[in-house]
Order: sequence, then C-alpha cells, then structure tokens
Amino acid sequence: MRFTKEYPQHRVNRQRRTIYILPLGPFPPGHAGQSTAAAAAGASTSAGETEAGSSSSDRGATGGAEGGACPSSRTDKVLLSWLQKFCQCFFLGVDVKFLDPVRVREVQCKTRINEHTKQWQLLSKDILDYLVSKKPRDAICLVAVTMLDLYPSDSWNFVFGQASLVTGCGVFSFARYDENFYYIPRDRQKAKKSELEEFNMPPVTSVLLLRACKVMTHELCHMFGMKHCIYFSCCINGSNSRDESDRRPVDLCPICLRKLQEAVDFRLAVRFRAMLEYCTKESWDSGVPAPPLEAFESFKTWLEKVLVFLEEPPVAGSEESSQASN
Ligand SMILES: [Zn+2]
Ligand SMILES: [Zn+2]
Repeated sequence: MRFTKEYPQHRVNRQRRTIYILPLGPFPPGHAGQSTAAAAAGASTSAGETEAGSSSSDRGATGGAEGGACPSSRTDKVLLSWLQKFCQCFFLGVDVKFLDPVRVREVQCKTRINEHTKQWQLLSKDILDYLVSKKPRDAICLVAVTMLDLYPSDSWNFVFGQASLVTGCGVFSFARYDENFYYIPRDRQKAKKSELEEFNMPPVTSVLLLRACKVMTHELCHMFGMKHCIYFSCCINGSNSRDESDRRPVDLCPICLRKLQEAVDFRLAVRFRAMLEYCTKESWDSGVPAPPLEAFESFKTWLEKVLVFLEEPPVAGSEESSQASN
C-alpha cells in the first residue's frame, strides 16, 4: 500500500501546505515573538498516543560535542529562525511559519509542580484542545513548542510531547534537553505560578540546536502520518530518553524518506543539497547569522557523500550509458 493512500489527509496540496509552529510560554522579555530556547525532547505519535517519559533516571547525559555557545541575547532572536530554516530544508517545498507566541495563562491548561524535578509542568492534553481552535485553514499541522515540561495525565511523570493525527495538532517540550533542567536549584516553597510566564533562556549551544532540530523534525514527521521506524537507524526511531534520542541520526532512513517524499514531493538531491548548505557556515548570508554548527559536522560529512553518489554522472559502460549508445 502506498503511504499517502494510507494517510491521504497528510499529503501536501494547494490548499494545505504550511507547517505552523506556536511558541508557548515564557520567552525572554523583548523577544517573545522570536525565541524558543534550548533543546528538544520528544515525542508524539498517532492519534492521541504519547511517547515518552521515564522517571528521573534519564538525567545526566550531556550528549557529546560541546558546541560554541552563543550569547543568549543574540540567540533569543535567531534560534527560531535556525529551527525554521532547518525544517524548511527537511520538508523541502513546505512552508514553515512561526505564529505569535502565547502565554500559558492564555491556554488555560492545568499545571503542576513535578514531585521529582520540582519544575513546573503543563498538562499536554489541555494544550492540544487549545490548539485545535487555533489551527489555520491552510495548516498541514499546528505544533506548539515550549520550554516548560509537560505531563499527559496525573499518573505520568512527564512526557516529551503529544500529538493527534486526527486533529493535526501537537505539542512538544524542549525542557529536558536543556543541560540545566535537572540541576537548577530552586526553592519550591517560594514557587509562584507567575514563574510560568518568566523564564531565563539558557545559552544555545550547537548540541542544543541539533537536538532541537532533531526533535522538531521527528515530531513533524509524526504529523505527516509517519509512525516510529522499525527498519533502520532513523530520525523517527522511537526513544524513551535523551540518550536514546541523541543516538538517532539527523535524517530519515531510505524507507521513511520515501514515505516523506510521497507526502511532500521533493527531489532528493535538491533536499540533501539544501541540508548541506544549512550545515555550511559560509552559505549563511548576513541576514541571519550562521548557527553554531560544530555538532552538525558528522551529518555534513554524510551529506557530502550522499550527494557525490546522487550527482555523479553515469560511468561509461554502465547499463544506462551503454543503452544510450545503442
Ligand atoms: Zn516519536
Ligand atoms: Zn526509518
């Protein structure tokens, strides 16, 4: 069965060709429209299913190479641009737009302080209900991103994210990909709900950006109707911890890439070329400063190899060229 026949509602068409992303919750003052912090987490699945959340056992793990940290005042403004551009390369041909951010109080979701981490959490189910009313007509999907931690129901410790394929809405949190998530000492006796509207954004390292890009594309693939990959190492493999998420590759395996191509309709080489440009500092113009790309280095090397293979002219004597000469 062809993938888009299985999930025809997820095929991009003339009326529906934009991915909308809604920043939710606290962002640094003055940059609320353009900032999302740190890294990513992740999960969402088919129809209301949640993936995720073990207990506090996945703490630790710094996730490899330390990228150059950017001054936070600058990253406030550009992080979402970096994420947006990456998504545009990954889903080549689809528009990716960020909506104006909303405050937690506007969403009116249930909240709590997690008993293990002592951090605020938002009830993801309530956020999904809110998003349905906000989904633009031309949206393929609408996903909220937040720096606050999420939980799907009272009995769960946390969830990286949650999505509904039926409504095309999802929410996911970058909170647990921030290196400081478990370590910020906080006096919870003084915790006030107003904290939900204030947040100090951590500096964005290359590792953090890579994680954020990976989780965004993973979640958005779900919104295109793709389920967790069980075939190869793939960016849409399931994961229950940050370590596991870090081990996932940046891109899709060949089977899942073909599924996405069915839904989005791009040329492979053009898409790989766009991603290679993303990973190449010199290709960024002065309009948007280049992100810290150290953590993207191995992905870049892989892309270069793939493109050599895809763009190589047929070798003389190969089946194609011998047919041509006949
Ligand atoms: Zn997933
Ligand atoms: Zn796959």
